[in-house]
Amino acid sequence: MDEIKRRIRTIANFPKPGIMFRDITTLLGDPFGFRKVVDELVQPYAGQPISKVAGIEARGFILGGAVAHQLSVGFVPVRKKGKLPWETISAKYELEYGFDQVEIHADAVQKGDRVLIVDDLIATGGTADATVRLVRLAGGEVIGCIFVIDLPDLGGRKKLEAAGVPTKALCSFEGH
Ligand code: AMP
Repeated sequence: MDEIKRRIRTIANFPKPGIMFRDITTLLGDPFGFRKVVDELVQPYAGQPISKVAGIEARGFILGGAVAHQLSVGFVPVRKKGKLPWETISAKYELEYGFDQVEIHADAVQKGDRVLIVDDLIATGGTADATVRLVRLAGGEVIGCIFVIDLPDLGGRKKLEAAGVPTKALCSFEGH
């Protein structure tokens, strides 16, 4: 997976000291990189019965939109609190200080939908875990969570797997 990993830029101490920000804009901006990452994300699910792709704001919109297109299924935007214009359902998750919330439109996922969740990176797993709860609350079945990057030291992948969600990432980085 070196072809993907080496196209990701790392910015030390962004957005705050101690964080190594994994910037996928360099990967997305590269024609080979963008096609490759979408193909790799889709490949395990090609031909499987998926009915929707849910992409997490904001980089999950770019990747999830392309994955949904490739699988010929609908796309569901998972947004931070207060951004969606119609009736919503929401799920809370814990931050270092306090809470945040993710939302989908109340009719975005139907009972029996088979949903694939997409984001660029999994760290603590808080955002993705809240998205899993949201899809399940709407009556959907979570088929899997897929990421470009895993930060295994932060335990997010284990958390999702403990919640019964098959989880895949295309590459990983040590540390935060
Ligand atoms: P978490 O909920 O802790 O798994 O955090 C995942 C979300 O935060 C994803 O939407 C990522 O885009 C973002 N994120 C967390 N840590 C990083 C990092 N080191 N570099 C880039 N994005 C990150």
